[in-house]
Amino acid sequence: MKLLEGKTALITGASRGIGKEIALKFAAQGANIAFSDLAYDDNAKSLEAEIEALGLKAKGYASDASSFDGGEALINAVMDEFGRIDILVNNAGITRDNLLMRMTEADWDLVIKVNLKSVFNLTKAVQKVMLKQRSGSIINMSSVVGVNGNAGQSNYSASKAGLIGFTKSIAQELGSRNVRCNAIAPGFIETDMTAKLPEDVKKEWIKTIPLRRSGQAEDVANIAIFLASDLSGYVTGQVISVCGGMSM
Ligand code: NAD
Repeated sequence: MKLLEGKTALITGASRGIGKEIALKFAAQGANIAFSDLAYDDNAKSLEAEIEALGLKAKGYASDASSFDGGEALINAVMDEFGRIDILVNNAGITRDNLLMRMTEADWDLVIKVNLKSVFNLTKAVQKVMLKQRSGSIINMSSVVGVNGNAGQSNYSASKAGLIGFTKSIAQELGSRNVRCNAIAPGFIETDMTAKLPEDVKKEWIKTIPLRRSGQAEDVANIAIFLASDLSGYVTGQVISVCGGMSM
């Protein structure tokens, strides 16, 4: 028996990067996969095809996670198509890095809206489904930067720290109905998001990581499988760092 057999997962921001890897790893464990991203493009279509080839159900949705009404519409559409949602991964996220001195109000607002408000939107919309099912696992993608802070990323850090407080509160609100809520705090993971960092910055970061390497999307997806599955049935309100020891 695979770890996620018979379960349906919804993953936001999954056309590439960590979200895509989580979709593929969940499917390899037997889950049907609904996923969203800003556009339903060729990346989304090929992800759908890759999952369907495993004999599972897969559907991509164009949906802006930062829109409150969009979140509600997405949950309703997934319920119409799949009939249940066992796992929600709030993965969509962006950076707009700058020192506070140079950070614009627009860059502050956008990062908070996409990284933090999106998690409120989707969690609020999915809670009625999970409460009715009397089971569910919500996984929020935080960051070591949300735990430790980082110069030049005050907007991103605030959004990812806010998400940790949200995770712990929701774990307390929904725990009695067997709905769990946890966060993952990845360190430096090689994706398009980190590809834009200068090489010298990356080299310096790697020197500070006890395992002396950057992480891969797969490293994060493996922890997501644990939190999504019944293996973590007694785990809620936790933040699990996947960072090669960067944050202790
Ligand atoms: P990525 O940029 O490769 O992928 C992010 C995906 O989210 C993209 O497909 C993008 O289109 C989508 N997205 C952006 N805004 C959206 C919106 N409003 N609605 C729906 N989809 C949206 O990034 P990644 O590295 O795969 O990061 C995934 C998550 O992990 C993010 O929340 C990020 O903050 C977090 N994270 C990443 C790292 C890292 O080192 N890569 C470290 C810590 C945390």
